[in-house]
Amino acid sequence: MSTENTVIDRHYCEQLDQHDALATLRDEFDLPHDVIYLDGNSLGARPKAALQRAQQVVTQEWGTDLIKSWNTAGWFALPSSLGDQLAPLIGAEAGEVVVTDSTSINLFKALAAALHMQSGDSKRKTIITERSNFPTDIYMAEGLTRWVDRGYRIVLIDSPEELPHVVNDETALLMLTHVNYRTGYLHEMSAITALAHQHGALMLWDLAHSAGAVPVQLNAAKADFAVGCTYKYLNGGPGSPAFIWVPQHHQAAFNHPLSGWWGHANPFAMQASFAPTPGIRRALCGTQPITSLALVACGLDIFGKTDMQAIRKKSLALTDLFIQLVENRCASHPLGLVTPRAHAQRGSQASFTHPYGYAVMQALIARGIIGDYREPAIMRFGFTPLYTRFVDVWDAVEGLRDILDNERYDKHAERHAVT
Ligand SMILES: *Cc1c(COP(=O)(O)O)cnc(C)c1O
Repeated sequence: MSTENTVIDRHYCEQLDQHDALATLRDEFDLPHDVIYLDGNSLGARPKAALQRAQQVVTQEWGTDLIKSWNTAGWFALPSSLGDQLAPLIGAEAGEVVVTDSTSINLFKALAAALHMQSGDSKRKTIITERSNFPTDIYMAEGLTRWVDRGYRIVLIDSPEELPHVVNDETALLMLTHVNYRTGYLHEMSAITALAHQHGALMLWDLAHSAGAVPVQLNAAKADFAVGCTYKYLNGGPGSPAFIWVPQHHQAAFNHPLSGWWGHANPFAMQASFAPTPGIRRALCGTQPITSLALVACGLDIFGKTDMQAIRKKSLALTDLFIQLVENRCASHPLGLVTPRAHAQRGSQASFTHPYGYAVMQALIARGIIGDYREPAIMRFGFTPLYTRFVDVWDAVEGLRDILDNERYDKHAERHAVT
């Protein structure tokens, strides 16, 4: 439907929902009726199936079958079986992804493996990333380079336009987050990866805000490594294990220092020395939190009922509508869009600054419109096409308009530990 010459009102948004090819997938989720959930970029909603699956894991697999379940319930295989299920969503092959550990830990492994692969070239001493990257990505690079103490330097850039000037033959690794967690800025994966390779650098992508949100083609882009979360757009559950991707051609050279027994070629041979397994499972370390890991499948199963092209189409329609409505209906307020307008540069979120952003977000949350807040002064709204309706966009903007028009927010709202 074209929005030109059309009056956008609640009824119009209801019609968009009626024509939405993904509308029925909302039934796969259990969302409270009095909530408009625009924070699936931080913690995805609960798939209905997760409750039954959790019960099965706890009562049958753990309670009744006990230790047999490592084999009979596929527990031991889970990191790789889930990785195979996730692979198509990020343009990877089966056998290239494991679901394991946290994104921070997986970053450490990928960073360490990359530096190891580059260690033959003693002048490659820099890791380039963005100052605006999610802090843990920078912190993990800092921690590793300080630990190995070989003169590695971390170079922080402020704009992707700097890349052609800073990537050079001293670059060991370029590490970028594909979609920025604050602004929703989406990097051009293929072009940037090619730039890194022209200079002999390796390319690590963090897909925390991409997996399940935007189409990703890791192999087509010839990326070297990727990591990402399953608890955001993939709806795996709070703190569900993350993933790491290592393409086939890099696996033999992928060596990281967290050489635990799950990455051993023959874990139950109980040998006294480490020998990595040939495939992607060398990226594993130790025993996984099975109750949490098992639920990741419930989120991934829902993606099997659609495809990333349909998800992308709806995602852009949702964020376009939200941006347009906020700018039209809250025009008299000091809101600043920090998310790119160009589709090619936008992830699945829309962020606006407001001088009282934290207080306004608290007021929104108090009336069941849930987004979140990130410094500095940024209100963040995430759009998960699997369960967000166009009418939710309308209602959220009307809530925002009422709060702003009538100053229904507490300028001195106290900060919670998690914002
Ligand atoms: C959410 C997010 C993380 C989270 O890392 P954890 O180890 O799961 O806490 C890391 N990096 C980016 C870019 C993120 O958006």
